[in-house]
Order: sequence, then structure tokens, then C-alpha cells
Amino acid sequence: MSVAFLGLGAIGRPMAARVAVRHPLVVWNRTAARAQEFARQTACRVAGSPAEAVREADVVMTCLSTSLDVESLLDGPEGLLAGLRPGTLFLDCTSGDPAGSNRIARRLAERGVAFADCPVSGGTNGAEAGTLTVMVGGDPAVFERARPYLECFGKLIVHLGAIGAGDTIKAINQVLLAANILSLGEALTAMVKAGVPARAGLEVLNASSGRSFVSESLVPARVLTGAWPNTFRLALMDKDVGIALDLIDQLGLDTPLLDLVRDRTRAARAALGEQADYLEPIKLNERAAGVEVRG
Ligand code: NDP
Repeated sequence: MSVAFLGLGAIGRPMAARVAVRHPLVVWNRTAARAQEFARQTACRVAGSPAEAVREADVVMTCLSTSLDVESLLDGPEGLLAGLRPGTLFLDCTSGDPAGSNRIARRLAERGVAFADCPVSGGTNGAEAGTLTVMVGGDPAVFERARPYLECFGKLIVHLGAIGAGDTIKAINQVLLAANILSLGEALTAMVKAGVPARAGLEVLNASSGRSFVSESLVPARVLTGAWPNTFRLALMDKDVGIALDLIDQLGLDTPLLDLVRDRTRAARAALGEQADYLEPIKLNERAAGVEVRG
């Protein structure tokens, strides 16, 4: 079965590379040079437009920044709808928003194309290793059709409900991730300012009840070392946090802590820019405290 993959960004690239190992692959990327570079390293064909990419595909996978970006590819003579055949399976791995996924699904259903939202978690390392968590929203029968393709890069693949359910749990995960990063940034700089060496202090936290994925995995590898790699843009985490808080607003719930997470994530994005990595808010804490969390 042939697969079309659209969106070769930081995480789309390693996901598509794993698909190419199991399936004939056609790729498309807005910035064509990225697709050409990918094709030099991977067995695949590069399409000149979204329509061309999907014309002969049995399965289409997208991994763009937002649901709106996916919607922007639907129309026009070179758009997805011009190329999609009835019976195609469309899996959107974008961390999208539930309303956007439902709009996309309705447009595709008019053409006889089945849709599932399939956002992922596990980072670029997880994509390379094929250990992503995949959160799926859609019809149960569509989920069963999708599973073998999602297994190219996913380890835990969970059906969570109707279209948009994958987006919902992804957004909830992201607001918790942001809360962890922001709170740990404040706490670690306070710890260092108080005179505790960063590595020793973190070792204790990670053997105690204050630990988290961020403290156990991300901070030792990326902050203590001073490596600060760019693997996931802070702008995208801000987008995700916004999706979560919009959902919470729609539910009429009062979540003052999570509201603060939204405000602080937004402020960090404004201060650090569109290309900053999601851990860089910790640099703002370091600057404010006049210390560095290294060791
Ligand atoms: P990047 O910013 O690295 O890449 C974004 C991709 O989307 C690029 O291929 C870009 O094309 C494309 N794109 C954006 N807007 C449009 C548009 N309007 N039309 C066509 N193509 C467009 O993002 P990531 O790869 O990091 O993230 C992709 C998705 O996966 C996001 O929803 C993100 O939240 C999610 N995600 C990312 C993770 C990570 O660790 N990076 C982890 C889990 C989820 P171009 O090359 O031309 O700019």
C-alpha cells in the first residue's frame, strides 16, 4: 500500500523516514528543498503539489504546524481535494484542534475519504526510534485500518473516541508539559541561587517525589549540558497550550493555574521568538535570577 506524507518538519521528517522503510512513499513539503534533501537520504518520490502527492496514495499522512495549515492545503487545482480518490485513508498527525479536525473530516467525507486525527508525543528522538505515542480520534473501523500505518513510528497507539479526541488529549498533555517546564525553571534557578549545585540537586529531585519527565530526561540532557538543542518550537507548544485552554473555556471550567501557564507560555514566546526551543523559557528564569542551571 502506498503512502503520501506531507510536512517534513522537525518531527515529520523522522516519521516519514520510518514509513519509507515499510511502504512505497511519496512526499511533499511546502519548502521544496527540504523534500529534495529528504529524498536524497530516503527511498521516496517527491511530488510537486499536494494533489500530485495524494493522487495514487492509499494512505495520506499530514504533519503540519496547525489544523488551519492542513485546511489551507485542501482547495485549489493543486490542492488535496483535487487529487484524493474515494476510499483513501487520511491520517492527520498534526497536533491539531478538535474543531479544525472535524471541519477537515467533513470536507474529506464528501469525497469518500476517511479521516482520523492522530497527533503524536515522544519528540524527535521517539520518532527516530519508532516509539511515539499516537492518540487517535475517529471511527473505530478507521482506527483499525490506520493502526498498521501508525505502527511505522508509534509504540503506544490508543483510540480515544470520535474525531477530535486525539487532539484533545494531546492538548491536555501539552499544557501539563508546559506547566512542568515553567515551574521547574523557576524552582531550579531558585535552588542554584540558594547555593545547591545543579547536578547534585537535580539528582536528589529525580530520586524524590518532585520529579517529572522534564526533570528526569530533558533537563539533564539539554540544560545541565548546555546543549539546548532545537527539537520542538516553543511557538508550537504555545499553540498547543492555547488549544487546551480554548477547550477548557468552552467547558466553562475555572482553571487559574492553567490560565497562568497559558499567559507565561505566550509571554515566553513573545520574548524568545518563533524559532526558540520549548525548553528556552528556563533561560528567562536564569537571566532573572542571574544564575545558570549547569553541571
Ligand atoms: P516544524 O515547524 O519543524 O515544521 C512544520 C511543518 O509544517 C513544515 O514541514 C512546514 O513546511 C509545514 N507547514 C507549516 N505551515 C504550512 C502551510 N500553511 N502549508 C504547508 N506546509 C506548512 O514543526 P514540527 O515538525 O516540530 O511539528 C509538526 C507538528 O507536530 C506540530 O503540530 C507540532 O505541534 C507537532 N509535534 C512536534 C513535536 C516535536 O518534537 N517537534 C512532538 C510532537 C508533536 P516548511 O518546511 O515549508 O516550513
